[in-house]
Amino acid sequence: MSIASGLPSDFNPSAYDVIVVGAGYAGAVCARMLAEGNSGRVAVLEKRDHIAGNAYDYVDEAGVLVHKYGPHIYHTNDEQVHQFLCRFADFTDYQHKVLANIHGTLMPVPFNHQSLKLAFGEERGEELYQKLVQAFGENRRVPILELRERNDEDLAEVADYVYENVFLHYTMKQWGKTPDQIDPAVMGRVPVFVGDDDRYFPQVPHQGMPANGYTELFENMLRHDLIDVFVNVDARDLLRLDETNVWVCDQLYGGEIIYTGALDELFGMDLGALPYRTLDMQFETLDQDQFQPVGTVNYTVSEDFTRITEFKNLTGQVVPGKTTIMREYSKAYTPGSGETPYYVINEPQNIELYKRYRDRVANVLNFHVVGRLAEYRYYDMDGVVASAMALSDKIINHR
Ligand code: FAD
Ligand code: UDP
Repeated sequence: MSIASGLPSDFNPSAYDVIVVGAGYAGAVCARMLAEGNSGRVAVLEKRDHIAGNAYDYVDEAGVLVHKYGPHIYHTNDEQVHQFLCRFADFTDYQHKVLANIHGTLMPVPFNHQSLKLAFGEERGEELYQKLVQAFGENRRVPILELRERNDEDLAEVADYVYENVFLHYTMKQWGKTPDQIDPAVMGRVPVFVGDDDRYFPQVPHQGMPANGYTELFENMLRHDLIDVFVNVDARDLLRLDETNVWVCDQLYGGEIIYTGALDELFGMDLGALPYRTLDMQFETLDQDQFQPVGTVNYTVSEDFTRITEFKNLTGQVVPGKTTIMREYSKAYTPGSGETPYYVINEPQNIELYKRYRDRVANVLNFHVVGRLAEYRYYDMDGVVASAMALSDKIINHR
């Protein structure tokens, strides 16, 4: 692999059999799989000045390894994805834990057996827990919206408490809407957990952090004789599409293009901009060993920010006397403002608009879209890797 800044003046697209736009998970996985799958030479074009997409991490001035675009915790149920990623990094056995700060008391989220006892007292908490076990069984994940539908006084008491103290205000801050107004799948990501597992991802078999960080994982994935990476290159300056063809640098391009950027941006948003939420991330380094007891504390009833992450608690890094924390403030994304479009807003009218953009590339058979931006999907890292692996397999088998 080589990483260059900018394209050389003699850049010749036809010297590459595959052009990948974006060096995040979607792009890097496709680049690696296609290079290994006898698909020829691969150029990866990335508009930022670094690889790894939103998973990018770096060591800050205090010597703390931080995640520039928000805390990333690897977790997956998918064996294939896990086997693939383990080729490029050793993973620590970090198990992510989140506490909700509810009027000053810290309670595990997902709300679980222990949280019930903290919220309702030892005896009443246990009683309510037994009711949950009767209704749903032990070690079960119950979405809050489902819990609210149960016609039982005790279950309603739990549902009301959790809805009000865990979901309502946090969701208003994160999405500007109440939990009932957004896609139920979003709430379903953080269920009530009927059990004692106090990890943020209960019962998920593979979780951890890449031992030397995400950026190194990406360096390893992209290190291949057939892959060249060019950062500080916005592919929109090079690409042109009509109904059936794609041109790169004004040459009709016959190789495969893997596009992982936003589709509305590719077309100058001429049908309108796809809506997103963005985050204002405020990093702060403190002169102390540790700030909070776990990786992330969610502020579910107070403050303007949604959560505070302390990176040393995620990575296990030892930096005596210093720690870096980060607060997340969510707001609507303004296209063209330089903000990062972080969260897709999964609403029918947005999906409709997305489909209209998607239809435009449907007949350009060598142009493939994959990833959280290009698919306009709320994906975790493992979901993107799975999607990129499936696409790569399809292309390799087709050639
Ligand atoms: P990206 O990582 O966004 O990569 C796309 C790349 O394409 C970017 O680098 C972009 O600069 C580049 N690009 C776009 N347009 C162009 C262009 N025109 N030319 C050149 N390059 C271009 N997932 C988890 O599993 N666990 C977590 O804990 C977790 N935490 C998260 C926290 C936050 C705050 C956010 C926002 C997401 C989190 N995720 C997490 C999700 C994770 O970030 C994504 O699933 C993953 O990074 C998506 O990879 P991607 O390649 O699709 O997109
Ligand atoms: N959520 C909440 N309170 C919490 C945690 C999550 O209301 O303490 C809701 C909120 O709407 C959030 C969604 O559940 O956007 C999904 O949470 P998750 O932690 O999966 O979001 P992400 O890590 O992707 O930001």
